[in-house]
Amino acid sequence: MEVIVIGGGAAGMMAAITAAKLKNRVTVLERAERLGRKLAVTGNGRCNLTNINMSPEHYHGQREFVTSVLNGFNLKRTLSFFRRLGLITVSEPSGRVYPHSDQAGSVVDVLRFALSALKVNVITSCTVSDIATSGGTFVVQTDAGPFKADKLIVTCGGAAGTRAGGSRLGYALITALGHSCTRLYPSLVQIKTENKYTRPLKGVRADAAVMVLSHGRTVSSSFGEVQFTDYGLSGPAIFDVSRSITTGGSGLLVKLDLMRELTRDDLKEIIESRLGSGLTMENLLTGTLHNKLGRTVLSRLGYSLSAPVSMLSHDDIVSISNMIKSYELPVTGSLGMDGAQVTAGGIPVEEFNPMTLESRIVPGLFAAGEILDVDGDCGGYNLQWAWSSGHLAGLLGDLQHDTEN
Ligand SMILES: Cc1cc2nc3c(=O)[nH]c(=O)nc-3n(C[C@H](O)[C@H](O)[C@H](O)COP(=O)(O)OP(=O)(O)OC[C@H]3O[C@@H](n4cnc5c(N)ncnc54)[C@H](O)[C@@H]3O)c2cc1C
Repeated sequence: MEVIVIGGGAAGMMAAITAAKLKNRVTVLERAERLGRKLAVTGNGRCNLTNINMSPEHYHGQREFVTSVLNGFNLKRTLSFFRRLGLITVSEPSGRVYPHSDQAGSVVDVLRFALSALKVNVITSCTVSDIATSGGTFVVQTDAGPFKADKLIVTCGGAAGTRAGGSRLGYALITALGHSCTRLYPSLVQIKTENKYTRPLKGVRADAAVMVLSHGRTVSSSFGEVQFTDYGLSGPAIFDVSRSITTGGSGLLVKLDLMRELTRDDLKEIIESRLGSGLTMENLLTGTLHNKLGRTVLSRLGYSLSAPVSMLSHDDIVSISNMIKSYELPVTGSLGMDGAQVTAGGIPVEEFNPMTLESRIVPGLFAAGEILDVDGDCGGYNLQWAWSSGHLAGLLGDLQHDTEN
């Protein structure tokens, strides 16, 4: 069978390898100059390719659909697939799996080598602009001329990560064939807040508990590293809650507990123990918080940093410990699709068969990866979705020959 895969990213390369192993003639059409452009920058150049704590709970999307797809080409099969390609992986205590080489390029390379060994026809710098069906055949229009196929796999990715090649082209191709597309939101993205109290902290990292509140109600929470920036907040704990912010409408507030290991009473005790130290306010929180953070907390409360700590009253101590436990920042937005790692939303999965990923609207059309309305948490879950769904789409419905183990 003649098969075309549109998009040579994570899901597309996986789909092409699977389809080629089943003796199909496979062509990959990729818009960029090389395959796996986004994959090559994942995980800060290290590629967090999956997570040993894999479970559908780490995904947003229709739960049964996600479970069905992840159960097929699962974590174990993914790791042994890469191992057979010669990619040695290591897992961190957090469960995140990386190539032992610590280079995302290694993941792209072993996939490229596999495509080449399977004689997959790879055409780069080739943008698909239109798909038509004629008598059971797909005709794919590109800037390098038309291509014909019996089956088509669309793996054009999502809109997130514009600099790494994210675009809306795939959604347009599929919706022109009669599919629909949900509203799209950036996820795993940096957050903009009122920056008066983050800008002076630019570059400071803190271990914090993060809560997102909508009109007083907690809508999401996380903990871990938070980075202060000139526009607001970044870091893994912020990425974890970012989806609830971009999809959560207006009036949101981020609340940081800057000392999650200690209670308010513990903090009051620490501050009280310094009252007779002869220090000025500048050093009241030295050793408790990052110096810049401690001073910003105090300035935010209106204290002069040159005042002696001995002037603090009981009420002052209560308000300082409250500010450390509840550092509030009104949300003003996010860095959008440019800064996002993944797109929330996409082509509704109800329009695809969960057993095969074949379209229920256009027979012979398959889709996989980020273009579908499934997105995962930070930690390797999005690439696992690309591997699992890419493999399933690459089977082209031929589940009996799913022999990869
Ligand atoms: C900076 C960054 C870091 C990330 N880090 C991680 C991480 O460490 N772990 C993790 O799990 N996830 C990570 N992600 C998310 C992950 O990279 C994506 O979810 C994943 O790559 C999606 O795979 P995909 O194959 O669906 O799409 P992509 O990998 O984006 O591939 C889609 C391909 O289709 C091509 N294409 C699009 N339209 C056309 C067209 N019309 N014609 C021809 N070709 C076309 C594109 O050029 C692209 O190469 C990160 C994302 C970003 C932006």
